Amino acid sequence: MDFTETSLILKVGSFREIDLWVRLATPTHGVLTAFAFGGSKSRRRFMGCLDPLNCVEFQFHRSGRGDYLYLMEGRLVRGCPGLRADPARLGPAVNCVKFYEAVFEGPDGSEESFALLAETLELMEDRTDLSALLPLLFRAKVVFLQGYGPGFGACPRCGKDLRTAAAPTLLVEQGVVACAEHAHGSGRRVVLDAWTVELLETVRMRSVRRWADAAAPAASRRRVFDAVDALVRYHLGLAWEDGRFRRV
Ligand SMILES: [Zn+2]
Repeated sequence: MDFTETSLILKVGSFREIDLWVRLATPTHGVLTAFAFGGSKSRRRFMGCLDPLNCVEFQFHRSGRGDYLYLMEGRLVRGCPGLRADPARLGPAVNCVKFYEAVFEGPDGSEESFALLAETLELMEDRTDLSALLPLLFRAKVVFLQGYGPGFGACPRCGKDLRTAAAPTLLVEQGVVACAEHAHGSGRRVVLDAWTVELLETVRMRSVRRWADAAAPAASRRRVFDAVDALVRYHLGLAWEDGRFRRV
């Protein structure tokens, strides 16, 4: 069964002399690998397409028994030449890509998360003033788009605005952020602050353009990291170890 899909290239590798394999994120077929025969030579079929982080509309062909996918032709939608040439931006971009690949490995895609990745890479290509927290907030947004994670606006037990409550606390297993008075129960807890709850609520409710340049007070950075790391571990079963995301 053949299909056409706009895809993001995560990695490219070569095998045999002129053939390439391409690791791709797609909105409806998840993260997959496809082969581009003659890919390193064929300018006509893949002109300017086969570089990592590019957004490309590919025609896919499935082999007779359905075991393999082949790229027949590509049309470049958007490239990332600036990003690929700038280590300061490339590192955070690769971090987002590795996380995406770990979450969406397999045949099930997520159109919303694919759009988030595409928009994040586009912003990283166009701008050099983005937040150092962006890869971390990207992970938080994926958790929220997958339907996990609490609201950070008000304590669910008394309705108090968490931006003005003392020591708002994330109760990870319960999936709740409560004021200090109502943060009962066991399990992992992360104490937040006004800045952190406001930022995470913005990430939950708004698109990446609204929080991509969030500047973090030093005291809050650790809280954001601890909260997102706990949500990612608990809900998605992933942790960052030795330069990659591992199942925990
Ligand atoms: Zn409360």
